[in-house]
Order: sequence, then structure tokens, then C-alpha cells
Amino acid sequence: MSRQNCSTSIKTGVFGTRKRDKPKVLFRKLRGKLYLDGPVCSGCSKELISHIRGGLCPDCQKTSVKLGVSNICGKCGRALANEAEFCDTCIRNDRAFVRARSCYVYEGAPKKLIYRLKFGGRRYLAAFIAEALVDRYLDCGYDCDCIVSVPLSDKRRRRRGYNQSELIAEELSARLKLPLVSGALVKIRENKSQAKLSMREREENVRGVYAVVAPDEFKSRRILVVDDVMTTGATLGEVSRVLYKSKARSVEALTYCSTRYVSPSENILDEEDIYEDEMV
Ligand SMILES: [Zn+2]
Ligand SMILES: [Zn+2]
Repeated sequence: MSRQNCSTSIKTGVFGTRKRDKPKVLFRKLRGKLYLDGPVCSGCSKELISHIRGGLCPDCQKTSVKLGVSNICGKCGRALANEAEFCDTCIRNDRAFVRARSCYVYEGAPKKLIYRLKFGGRRYLAAFIAEALVDRYLDCGYDCDCIVSVPLSDKRRRRRGYNQSELIAEELSARLKLPLVSGALVKIRENKSQAKLSMREREENVRGVYAVVAPDEFKSRRILVVDDVMTTGATLGEVSRVLYKSKARSVEALTYCSTRYVSPSENILDEEDIYEDEMV
């Protein structure tokens, strides 16, 4: 049974938060504001000396798998095990975005960092991620007019207390001096968590869940969609599809991490659901 099925049987509070989760949610919100951790590396817990409050130490950055120009899919940007031009997913599915690129493979220290931002309430990590995205944006020669983040449903956002993609997009917008379009792209329906679904199920699961409520914000613009992780590209593909329906001139995507391309079946298992409940 999925977590969503489970949660329907548990009594929820006024903001859709399960009563037993309230102290956890409150703690996550406070941690993001109070900076309770001290300046330590999210990968190895070593003390950090940096102008940014938290992130990864030089050693963890060095040992993380950085994505460059070779051995990645020319469209979705994921790491490939061979020198093929495109991954099988992109060959078989026409994702609506022009291209997507990421900074790191979703494993090791960068993955821990995302967990801490996403499920551990450490909002300040968005600034560290945005610094890496600026480098990737410039290295890849992106030239966009505005930034938009992948929205969460109202229910999920209330439960987590924030949308990590939005935090990253805000920080990136300030650094690149590109306007952030917020509130114009919305998630209109709660879908199942993508974490335990196959590629085909992910595509069906995201179909029709996003909508543009202010199309003029996107008309004739070159849009950069920002998210924390790309897995199969189904979510970014669907977001791009609705942006093109609003007459966007182009849609490109940038994420901090992406999973390695694994196999045509892409039955990717992720422990995100466990973390959403357990990690604070
Ligand atoms: Zn480290
Ligand atoms: Zn691809």
C-alpha cells in the first residue's frame, strides 16, 4: 500500500498535516530558520569553512560524480554507461523540453545534501545548490529569459513546510539576475509519489497534474525549469508540455542531480518515501 493510501485513513489536522507529525513538521520549519546544525558538510559531517552556511566540503565535491559534456545523454543529460548519443528513454519518448542538464549523479554526498534540504528542513542548503547550478548554467551556454520551479501540490507543500525546488529557483534567480515566475504554474492534482513507480507508470502518473494559470507569463519566453533531481524526466517533460501549450518559446531544464540511466525498464526504487516520514 502506498503512503498516500495509508495517509487517508489517518486523521489530519487543519492544514492537512497528520496530528502525530505536527512536532516533526514544526521542528523542520524551525531548523531551516534557526540553523541548528553548525557549519558541517552534508556528505561527511566535517566542519566547513565557507561563506555559505552549509553544503559539501571540497573532498566530498571531488569524490562526487560530476556530470560534464561526455558520457551523458544529449537530451536529458543523465550519465550513460556507454558513449551513445542519447539514452533509450529519450529515443523512445519525446520529452517536451529542449534539453535537461544536472551537476551531479544522484548518489553519495550530493544525494545526502538533497535529502537534508528536502526532508530535513535545512532550507539554507538551497543557496549552496544554486551556486553549483550557476556554474552549470554558464558552462552549458543556457540563455533563458525567466526561471520557474516545479510546483508541489498544496497538501505536500503544507506538510513539508516549503517547496525545495522553489527555494533553489529563488536563489538561482538572484544569482543569475533572471526573473522568477511564481504562482503561474501550479500543481492541480495530488498524484502518487513517483518514487516507487516504473518509467511508464511515472509518465501516466504526472499526466495532467500541472496547469498554467497565467499563460501570458510564459508566452514567447525562453524558460528555465529548475528542480532538485531528475529521475526519468517524466515530470520535467510534463511541465514542459504545459509551458509549450502556453506558447513558451523554448523550455530547458536544470537540476542539481540526476539518476544514472539504468535500463529500458527503469524500475527505479528510491527510499524517498521512507525519508519523508523518518528524517527530521
Ligand atoms: Zn564532506
Ligand atoms: Zn536521455
